[in-house]
Amino acid sequence: MSFDQTFVPTSVSPSLLLTPAADLFAVRAARLRHLAGGHSLAPWLNWLAGLCDAQQQQLAALPELGVSMGDVEAGQRGLRVDHPVLSRTWPTVYAGLRASLAGLPDNPVLPELSPSALQASATQVFGMAAGHAPLGEPSLADFLVAAALQVTWTAAARQLALAEGDAHGDDGMCPCCSSAPAGAIVMTGPGKMGLRYLECSLCATRWNAVRARCTICADGSPVSYLGIEGGSEAVKAECCDHCHGYIKTFFQDKDLLVDPQADDLASLALDILVGEQGYARASPNLFLAEGEAA
Ligand SMILES: [Zn+2]
Ligand SMILES: [Zn+2]
Repeated sequence: MSFDQTFVPTSVSPSLLLTPAADLFAVRAARLRHLAGGHSLAPWLNWLAGLCDAQQQQLAALPELGVSMGDVEAGQRGLRVDHPVLSRTWPTVYAGLRASLAGLPDNPVLPELSPSALQASATQVFGMAAGHAPLGEPSLADFLVAAALQVTWTAAARQLALAEGDAHGDDGMCPCCSSAPAGAIVMTGPGKMGLRYLECSLCATRWNAVRARCTICADGSPVSYLGIEGGSEAVKAECCDHCHGYIKTFFQDKDLLVDPQADDLASLALDILVGEQGYARASPNLFLAEGEAA
């Protein structure tokens, strides 16, 4: 008689929340460069890797933002989109990202945006992070705004260091900032073996969510996993026959370096496959151009 090691209980109680790592964007940049090798979207994946390098520089340079749960009303989540400190911070991060990219060879010219155009772009990005479809085809400037918002909200999530007891609600949204998850990751390692976490599309906080039930609809329906025959075993679409939505799930035991946001962009063939089976994408990726997965 044998047991799947996934179900062997560990003596360590699992973390409900995983705060984003200090080198999140550097790791993602390396992953994007790896995935770009021989990929039909290599120029795009390599451009995003350069953007992630710039995000890492900005994250490392950000000062203490002074965010705390102390100024959060009971029942609210901390890092809301109109948080005054974060609203003041991200345009500076945007300017820093733009300056970094302007120094790179072969980089497309990024137009300067007026304060009102910047704000409109941020509104669109927040809408996408909340799970709404983009209003139009995102521009390179929109991707830069998305990158600046990610850096700012990730820094705030790291500094907030949300306590497990502060994690509330089971609505499938980020316990830190209320954004929708970009995807799910089934992890390996002590205390995390076989545990499934959702990763926030905006602040990259990961939160524990039980396996084998739909996290899109409140119904908690069982899900099935679809993958590409002959493709990576580390990437599957978790499909629900109740709401007909799907969210991509990434398996660390098949590829330890899998990154929900980078690997998502490199696996759009899977979106096409499950789209043909009648399932609709339910998770945002702030760097997915409209139509790429259609
Ligand atoms: Zn979040
Ligand atoms: Zn569902």
